[in-house]
Amino acid sequence: MIPFNKPYLTGKEGHYIYQAVLSGKISGDGIFTKKCHDFFEKKYGFNKCLLTTSCTDALEMAALLIDIQPGDEVIMPSYTFVSTSNAFVLRGAKIVFCDSRTDHPGIDEDAIEALITDKTKAIVPVHYAGVACDMDKIMDLAAKYKLYVVEDAAQAIDSYYTGRDGVKRPLGSIGHLAAFSFHETKNIMAGEGGMLVINDQKFADRAEIIREKGTNRSKFFRGEVDKYGWVDMGSSFLPSDIIAAFLYAQIENIDEIQRRRKEIWHAYSRLLQPLQDKGIIGLPVIPDFASNNGHMFYITLKDIDARTALIADLKANNIYAVFHYLSLHKSPFYEAKHDGRVLPETDRYTDCILRLPMFYELTEDNIKSISEVIINYFV
Ligand SMILES: *Cc1c(COP(=O)(O)O)cnc(C)c1O
Repeated sequence: MIPFNKPYLTGKEGHYIYQAVLSGKISGDGIFTKKCHDFFEKKYGFNKCLLTTSCTDALEMAALLIDIQPGDEVIMPSYTFVSTSNAFVLRGAKIVFCDSRTDHPGIDEDAIEALITDKTKAIVPVHYAGVACDMDKIMDLAAKYKLYVVEDAAQAIDSYYTGRDGVKRPLGSIGHLAAFSFHETKNIMAGEGGMLVINDQKFADRAEIIREKGTNRSKFFRGEVDKYGWVDMGSSFLPSDIIAAFLYAQIENIDEIQRRRKEIWHAYSRLLQPLQDKGIIGLPVIPDFASNNGHMFYITLKDIDARTALIADLKANNIYAVFHYLSLHKSPFYEAKHDGRVLPETDRYTDCILRLPMFYELTEDNIKSISEVIINYFV
């Protein structure tokens, strides 16, 4: 049986967890949390990083930080995970769903401006499959209409955007805020885990407070105040140092993990190219301004029936391929709140995307046999 995902252990996770436990400080912001923050800030030039218990939490922190009020509008793709919108709905926002690009499931950057009203407060681009949205276009709109940009970079660790100026920037370093996930299905993981990146320094102090139940405990631990108390609203968004210890073992191996995942991606792409050439399936498109971080390999089928049939055939061959993201604008929770616009590309991706097994330990033989099953199915 070839599973869809298999979390990869680098081997040091248990060792670092043991060290964290022995250190005697296993609540949040211990030695491993600090090591993780330092790593991400140095490697990607992020202004400030804060580990959270999930990307969902990091997005909820972002909604609090930009002070979303009931009635504020937030523009985001409909083709995304529920957490992207839930975080803002919890603050009373109205979600204005935007369609996807025709060549890629990311938000259609050219369709955003028509959705902006005087109530719009933020744009939340999702770097689907770790492939960048066209951030110059989005940041230009944000500047023109004075909006915040929160990058949902859940899948986008170690991926880049090359702007008009030719400079290559890490995803998560461009918007005012960005949220990453370290869920076990992501490239670098801690079981459950996430990170908020604060690029706009004006949010830095308040982010620490919101993450620590609305208290200034972080300042207290640094000796900057002599007692701590309740200074703002907040919640418990910080993970135990045990999670950070696990994560540190992963990030020490990030270059090797990324190398292998990209290799797997290219092997699939090469083997399945003939099916695309015959017009039978679509392969992922990486726009010129984006890099590929090997997060996901998906194919697109001609319709939902073709996808259902192929999933069954793969399953009969002991291969688990999955689809995801049902258009959020048509979800049981949001359909009645949606303004009725049709989003044809979103619906097409909802019906047609199939994700193939993708994990560090997938072997060359696995990739070959998966590709062969797909090719034999069609020819
Ligand atoms: C995984 C994912 C999330 C949620 O991440 P968690 O860490 O599980 O909360 C949010 N948005 C996108 C696009 C994701 O892929």
